[in-house]
Amino acid sequence: MEIIVLGSGTSHGVPMIACECAVCHSLDPRDQRTRASVHVVMNGLRIQIDATPEFRVQALRESIPAIDLFILTHGHADHILGMDDLRRYCELRPDGTLPVYCTEEGEGRVRDIYPYALVPRGEQPDGYARFDLRRLPARLELPQGVIESTLLPHGRVETLGLVFTEAGTGRRFAYYTDCKTVPPAARDLARKVDLLLLDGLRPSPHPTHLSIPEALAVVTDLAPQRTFITHLNHAVAHCDEQLYLNNEAHFAYDGLKIVL
Ligand SMILES: [Zn+2]
Ligand SMILES: [Zn+2]
Ligand SMILES: [Zn+2]
Repeated sequence: MEIIVLGSGTSHGVPMIACECAVCHSLDPRDQRTRASVHVVMNGLRIQIDATPEFRVQALRESIPAIDLFILTHGHADHILGMDDLRRYCELRPDGTLPVYCTEEGEGRVRDIYPYALVPRGEQPDGYARFDLRRLPARLELPQGVIESTLLPHGRVETLGLVFTEAGTGRRFAYYTDCKTVPPAARDLARKVDLLLLDGLRPSPHPTHLSIPEALAVVTDLAPQRTFITHLNHAVAHCDEQLYLNNEAHFAYDGLKIVL
């Protein structure tokens, strides 16, 4: 299984517009954080999780050749506003349509923002995005592996927490972004995974996201092989990783690739 971090930043991105802080002016490329998204290749199956406002730039940067399946974790702007750029990946598919898995909340947002992507083929010219909206079940079994999902509290909405288990290798990857807590069922699902990519917005508490200390407490409980903290804002510089994470985890960064 291969995991490509397309973006590791929070909704503002880093640098943030009109900010004079040191991290927003850092010369370390790992402090340039586009909005949070990952691309997973599981036994050749290409799964795209979320499409940020920078999705087109991210896809070009990583030369993503195709997408077989798209998962929207939730309908917030920083995760949904790049979905129009999925049009190229729709075009590359034999039926011109991309399966889009989401929650009821995510589906409502897709219907509001992209109604033109939900009309049947033939009702508008090719070249537009076309989505086949589906609810993500708790367990989606595919020939390439299993995708399990759980709901994570995130203010007024719930985010899909995702655990991928690759067929054959048995490798497991959990992606828990945008969450204030990780409830017991979600902890059981992700316990001792090979790789955990976890929300950890900033050092101080936040009403709808895990702080870095809160994220580390989750890491201690879940005991994953490796952990990266994502959805970071401009409060932390990548070079201060040890200071904040004490070798218990690492900061994710745009373009990070992990092969399990
Ligand atoms: Zn700043
Ligand atoms: Zn969110
Ligand atoms: Zn977000």
